[in-house]
Amino acid sequence: MPTDTYRVAVFSHKPYDKEALATAASLHTTGPVRLDINYLEPRLCSDTVALAADYDCVCLFVNDEVNASTARALSQYGVSHIALRCAGYNNIDVSACHLAGISISHVPAYAPEAVAEHAMALILTLNRKMHKAYNRVKEGNFELQGLLGFTLFGKTIGVIGTGKIGKAFIKIARGFGCSILCYDPAPDQDITDSEVRYAPLNVVLSGSDIVSLHCPLTPQTAHIINHDAIQRMKQGVMLINTSRGGLVDTNALVSGLKTGHLGYVGLDVYEMESDLFFRDRSCEVIQDDTFQRLSTFHNVLITGHQGFFTQEAVSEIAQITIKNMYAAANGHPNSRFL
Ligand code: NAD
Repeated sequence: MPTDTYRVAVFSHKPYDKEALATAASLHTTGPVRLDINYLEPRLCSDTVALAADYDCVCLFVNDEVNASTARALSQYGVSHIALRCAGYNNIDVSACHLAGISISHVPAYAPEAVAEHAMALILTLNRKMHKAYNRVKEGNFELQGLLGFTLFGKTIGVIGTGKIGKAFIKIARGFGCSILCYDPAPDQDITDSEVRYAPLNVVLSGSDIVSLHCPLTPQTAHIINHDAIQRMKQGVMLINTSRGGLVDTNALVSGLKTGHLGYVGLDVYEMESDLFFRDRSCEVIQDDTFQRLSTFHNVLITGHQGFFTQEAVSEIAQITIKNMYAAANGHPNSRFL
């Protein structure tokens, strides 16, 4: 049987992407189509789109950007499919891609516990100041002053978005003995725990000791945490964002931290992260003054979009992405096509 070759360009790739995708591809039983996967370091955006010339498919991650003109350019270069190796697709103009004849697949569900556990790690680290305690003890400093935390048991956590990750996070938080107030325009009827209650957004914001964001970035949720929302929250509240940076107005965050209204902030994502994250910038002068200001607060903990980064999740993402690319190559779209 003749074998067709389907050319794939993996943008923004890292060694762990290459390893996971190569393993997943080797496990996939080949049919009449063979994937020819090429790994490119740059992020896909309007400046780099020419690198996609002559590929059938581009495989993208969270900070690659496809706006309407990039979608048209991709189509002119012969690309007919975008395989996202992530869940969110706020970085892709979906209708412009469809208009340009480009189909899109994503990985809607993979180890949601990975991100939920990272949200809890941020809460515990910020609260019990593990990052500071680690450094103190390493330097022979056993002083406790400045490390005082609070008991998580019995606290109320506000969960915004009760999809796969929100629900996994609720399970973990319930294990710690927390009550949950949640907001989601599409409440999950299967949540029957008496300590988990849906409420309007304002009630969730004003009634929670900790607020954790688990909704997608859409026009409706952009800056859902702005100056007004912060003012509605309890004095000294902890805010956790492991979802998408654009959910939070960073300038409002800095103001809320300066006045002390926000007691703790844990971020795995940042509004302008595409110019910063996933690179070693330790020998560069970082030009983003807002980010630099944010990172100076003693009560802010930032990680560089690593919520998904567990062996299990990376492997699952790769397996589903390979399946999606084979589905596109064979012209058999599945339920993970947008
Ligand atoms: P999901 O689709 O299962 O759930 C999202 C939930 O948000 C849904 O229940 C939806 O009804 C709800 N929602 C929609 N609009 C809302 C609004 N205005 N207010 C409140 N809730 C709203 O998605 P998921 O798998 O749980 O992922 C959630 C988000 O986590 C993703 O969109 C992505 O941005 C982010 N994420 C981050 C990482 C990471 O590494 N940090 C990894 C994966 C996903």
